Amino acid sequence: MRYLLALDQGTTSSRAILFTLEGRPVAVAQREFRQLYPKPGWVEHDPLELWETTLWAAQEALRRAGVGAGEVLALGITNQRETTLLWDRKTGKPLSNAIVWQDRRTAPLCEALRERGLEPLFRERTGLLFDPYFSGTKLLWLLENVPGLRARAERGEVCFGTVDTWLVWNLTGGKVHATDPTNASRTLLFNLHTLAWDPELLEALGIPAALLPEVRPSDGDFGETLPELLGAPVPIRGVLGDQQAALFGQAALEAGEGKCTYGTGAFLLLNTGERPILSERGLLATVAWSLGGKATYALEGSVFTAGAVVQWLRDGLGLFRESREVEALAESVEDSGGVYLVPAFTGLGAPYWDPYARGAILGLTRGTTRAHLVRAALEGVAFQVRDVVLAMEEAGVRLKVLKADGGMARNRLFLKIQADLLGVPVAVPEVTETTALGVALMAGVGARALSPEDVAGRYREAERFLPTMPEGRREALYRRWREAVERALGWAKE
Ligand code: ADP
Repeated sequence: MRYLLALDQGTTSSRAILFTLEGRPVAVAQREFRQLYPKPGWVEHDPLELWETTLWAAQEALRRAGVGAGEVLALGITNQRETTLLWDRKTGKPLSNAIVWQDRRTAPLCEALRERGLEPLFRERTGLLFDPYFSGTKLLWLLENVPGLRARAERGEVCFGTVDTWLVWNLTGGKVHATDPTNASRTLLFNLHTLAWDPELLEALGIPAALLPEVRPSDGDFGETLPELLGAPVPIRGVLGDQQAALFGQAALEAGEGKCTYGTGAFLLLNTGERPILSERGLLATVAWSLGGKATYALEGSVFTAGAVVQWLRDGLGLFRESREVEALAESVEDSGGVYLVPAFTGLGAPYWDPYARGAILGLTRGTTRAHLVRAALEGVAFQVRDVVLAMEEAGVRLKVLKADGGMARNRLFLKIQADLLGVPVAVPEVTETTALGVALMAGVGARALSPEDVAGRYREAERFLPTMPEGRREALYRRWREAVERALGWAKE
């Protein structure tokens, strides 16, 4: 037998899944790691924990399957995106904690860049906008705040990377310092049109080019793992940011096809084919993958808080013990009883882009129960996705069906609520681990064992949720949601 191994380094856990060449999962291993919140609005990970949990998961998945590394045709890496790391080129030691995509510390830096009138240039070149979400200002912050770092970076002694780059570096024992265009396109430093680091953007931000990893295609050769790590060397032949991997795993291979992944955040990506679409409505243009020497682009709506609100209800408020209880709890009431929960814990992403927005709960009465609160939280996620879908419609794309996946897509009530509040059917695939599947298949393509056509043929829909809510009610609820959002905007500013 020959297998494909996916390493899925997510925001809350590191996972490894072993797949057959047909894309059937054989074994899974998963380990959580610490979330560090050193100050309000700051989120960090320990780079060594990211590496060690990923390595453990890879070893454990092979052990559970009883498969030797020699039987693994290729390995693919998919990762939480934008999270920013720096390490010493000589020793491989991290030079700071990883600044996580959710971290808001660079909001003032973003404002300063906007005041310099740089946003139109960056928007046109990178498809992004100035928000603390992206790697560029996080990197800038590190250069300005870690003593001695800038001088060392200019001398070429420091490596920058997103999580994919950090894992490739460690898996290859420091032989390969590389990323792929999907991860590069989240940094604010990468030109979407030329598919290369942009010297003018680097100059504008004052970032030394000596830091940067080489950019290789998503189905490229990223070296092979050190033999002692997994028991035998395994070729690394696929790298994709997690959302792009899910798009690939959902077989959204043609322009006009899209998906929404409900993990920590929710990310709706729509394949736009060979050209990036720059929207005026707060959507991002990004690389979907570069494959067979050709780039495919996507339009993206990024919602920062989705499953994280369920974690907060569980861990922050202690309303239930396990995430799966949330479904029965929310189902025990007919509706949210007029409660709206805007989960703007780390600001709001698309289409609002307000790093100063904070969470809000409105419409509480003496009759509100935890069930109403929980239901309002699920609705808050669904409303945010509707915000994004409306922005996409304004950009001229109409969604016929929403292909859903991610941790929250296990919640069938939530999928029904999403269909109702969107007015569009929601479909889930048989293999719900689409992120891992996507990068495993990409590695299979990179190893020349699969073709993109094989990938398209592997999609199987498991279930479809149809909207049944009357149009008038849907619109009325949505209008109130927009009012609730208005009240959450700008809250943390001063
Ligand atoms: P990530 O890759 O971002 O870490 P996952 O795709 O693993 O995320 O999804 C985990 C998220 O899904 C968590 O935030 C969790 O709260 C949420 N989740 C898990 N099970 C449920 C459920 N039954 N209902 C709602 N949310 C859930």
